[in-house]
Amino acid sequence: MAKHTPMIRQYLSIKAEVPDAFLFFRLGDFYEMFFEDAEKAAKELEITLTSRDGGDERIPMCGVPFHSAGVYIARLIEKGYKVAICEQVEDPATAKGVVKREVVRVVTPGTVMEEKMLLERENNFLAAFIRRDQRWALASGDLSTGEFYVTELRGGEDAIIDELAAFQPKEVVMRAGEEFPSPRELRRRLGTLVTTVPAGEMTEPESLGRVLSEQFPGHEDVWSSPYILEAAGLLLSYLRQTQKRSLTHLNRIERYDAQHFMVLDPAARQTLELTASLKDGKRKGSLLGLLDRTATAMGSRLLKKWLDKPLLDVDAIRERQSAVTALLQNPILLEEVRDRLKEVYDLERLSARIAYGSANGRDLQALRRSLEALPSLQQLLLEAGDDSLVRLAQEMDLCQDVRELVERSVAEEPPVSVKEGNLLKEGFNDELDALRTVQREGREWIARLQQREREATGIKSLKVGFNKVFGYYIEVTKANLRHLPEGRYQRKQTLANAERFVTAALKEKERAILEAEERSVELEYQLFSQVRESIAGAIPRMQRLADQVARLDVLHGFAVVSERYRYVRPDILGTPGISVKNGRHPVVEAALEEGMFVANDTAIGGEAGQILLITGPNMAGKSTYMRQVALITLLAQIGCFVPADQAEVGVVDRIFTRIGAADDLVGGRSTFMVEMDETRLALAQATPRSLILLDEVGRGTSTYDGMALAQAIVEYLHERVGAQTLFSTHYHELTRLAEDYPRVVNLHARCVEKDGEVVFLHRMEAGGADKSYGIHVAQLAGMPPQVIARAQVVLESLEARSQTAAAEQLDLFQYAEPQAKVRPEEEEVLHRLQEWDLLSRTPLESVQFLHELQRKL
Ligand code: ADP
Repeated sequence: MAKHTPMIRQYLSIKAEVPDAFLFFRLGDFYEMFFEDAEKAAKELEITLTSRDGGDERIPMCGVPFHSAGVYIARLIEKGYKVAICEQVEDPATAKGVVKREVVRVVTPGTVMEEKMLLERENNFLAAFIRRDQRWALASGDLSTGEFYVTELRGGEDAIIDELAAFQPKEVVMRAGEEFPSPRELRRRLGTLVTTVPAGEMTEPESLGRVLSEQFPGHEDVWSSPYILEAAGLLLSYLRQTQKRSLTHLNRIERYDAQHFMVLDPAARQTLELTASLKDGKRKGSLLGLLDRTATAMGSRLLKKWLDKPLLDVDAIRERQSAVTALLQNPILLEEVRDRLKEVYDLERLSARIAYGSANGRDLQALRRSLEALPSLQQLLLEAGDDSLVRLAQEMDLCQDVRELVERSVAEEPPVSVKEGNLLKEGFNDELDALRTVQREGREWIARLQQREREATGIKSLKVGFNKVFGYYIEVTKANLRHLPEGRYQRKQTLANAERFVTAALKEKERAILEAEERSVELEYQLFSQVRESIAGAIPRMQRLADQVARLDVLHGFAVVSERYRYVRPDILGTPGISVKNGRHPVVEAALEEGMFVANDTAIGGEAGQILLITGPNMAGKSTYMRQVALITLLAQIGCFVPADQAEVGVVDRIFTRIGAADDLVGGRSTFMVEMDETRLALAQATPRSLILLDEVGRGTSTYDGMALAQAIVEYLHERVGAQTLFSTHYHELTRLAEDYPRVVNLHARCVEKDGEVVFLHRMEAGGADKSYGIHVAQLAGMPPQVIARAQVVLESLEARSQTAAAEQLDLFQYAEPQAKVRPEEEEVLHRLQEWDLLSRTPLESVQFLHELQRKL
């Protein structure tokens, strides 16, 4: 062991508390990093690596100036690291030995508060989950907005991953040793930072309950479930451990039931391009990008949450629709609401910063301006003549007391800093006013001094000036010194061609001014903090108000999009079935020139059939059509209008997708494997209320394999699952399934041949496609003519051969339920095995039980 200096020993002991974070160790005006931290940070931040004496050896070191540390911290967080900020917690002047230091906060991707590190229009969720007795409990919180949600789930790993995906957390916390799913798997599927908390830490139910009660007084019923208690406790303990300060804005804990929302797994979210386009992962080109016409950042975040959790409750959907209708029918209202909304800043994050104690004068002014815009907004809604808007308006508490307080106290244009004065208004505090008067009068006296002394001495060029070292002085040029009466001033400083002087009166004024200045800066900070604290008392009300404004903003945005693209209000039904007249794909339509998108009808469910089998060549518009049906359903269930002339949508409990060839390179799975995995999920979990999109399933393997699998899957969906399915395939042989399975309906993407070339009409018509046009598409793609001609010949010979094989193929299309070969006694054994509760029995009991079962067979 090397012998270290006392400071390095202190460093090492603090570093041991935060092994997974960069330790920013405050040394004077710098944050320094040592050892591996220094080496890694130098690389990541592109700063110079140096070294310092650390005792026996030289220690690698690098540092960043404390006043610009924010930029470096942001960069490390952006890269998915954590940063622990360690400050000097006693005055170096009076400290004995090494100055005491402590970690005052750990900044992690999931606990960022700084405006610059947050995306305005996105939540910054931190999630924690636990697994007990076949159950999951999940807690998700956003420190920057004060949201905190909890829920309980049943099911396998997919259940927790799907639910996590709805929040897209920046960081997930789990207990070490409970690695199910493993941190690696989580990172792969969610692309997020995973933090493991040592097993055994933060586990005592009583202490978790106490911590939760302190944070969310009066909400005890929320964590009456021991699972929720544990997950919420884990999340909160992590927040407290990293933030080390009061988090009063985190005051609402909300329990929700995941079953009240449509389930969308990560694959479905991705392929439907809900919040990010497949092309480049950007918002633009996604459904969110199209829909987001919100005027406020809170509205934008809420819209994303709605998209992440479409509703199942028919009445709740209709409530949203009704507000959209009212806004849409009144163009003047639509415009005026928008004008008001534009004046509202991010009340949610402002509230969070106020509670966190990091809001400055400008934040409070932004708050005031926002609150000022609200009374007229409320009035507009009250007069809108729609129940849901009127209700929204009536429920608004406009927090005008907060507005008044800011108006009385905070200066109109306060500086960024809260520690340099000029924050508060005249008339707010008598003592402050008096101090300011002293300063003002002192300065005026000094300003007049120059004139007075010029007159008294007759020296026209005499000047009164100020510098940091000597304070106020009177300056006389060397040439004029002879005019100066002896003993009038005290000499202070000699320059090349001038002398500087002071007088007792001047020094006295100066002292009074400086004292008043110092005292008033201090007082202003105190008073400002008091104002901030008293506003913090109104935070629950402001958060509620923020919710209401955000909600209005989203609904307003729906109306704007619906007007722009001529969407209609869909009829929402509680029974399965989708019926759409002239439906369009919202995003593809918006990208095309007006009127270029070909609209298509859809009928699925009941009489219309359960499985739409869609044939047609590549590029004919099959997958666009399938996505369009899913997106129309989704839009309907978030309460938006839909791109169609008319639509009826029976609420869908879940959308499954298997579209496109996404090789999972990171996970090391082939296209075919991904394809089969996603299809398996649909077959296992879909209900008759689900919607499944399967695009060319089976194409990842050989033709016969693929066709056989595709057929078996369609049969299974028809006979067993009953889910509403859109199934595209280029095996046009499968169209024969419609003859044997009454709820399979054939559709094809119509194409015509013109002058030997194929033209895609993008129109879905009844019946199967007659050919696959694959060779035509290859020709379109510019394949050499020799290849095209040869392919034509090969095709003809293959087709001739398959004619003769047709007789054998036919019986392939008879669905045979795999014969049940289970004997009754086996059935009983299976049943009893299933019922046996392993957890509540001793190993010996289980062995006896097994023995008994064996004898039955
Ligand atoms: P497929 O799945 O049959 O291979 P796609 O759905 O990918 O075909 O569509 C191919 C292209 O055709 C899309 O990029 C889109 O621009 C265009 N397209 C698809 N459907 C329509 C439509 N209804 N109207 C206009 N263009 C369409």
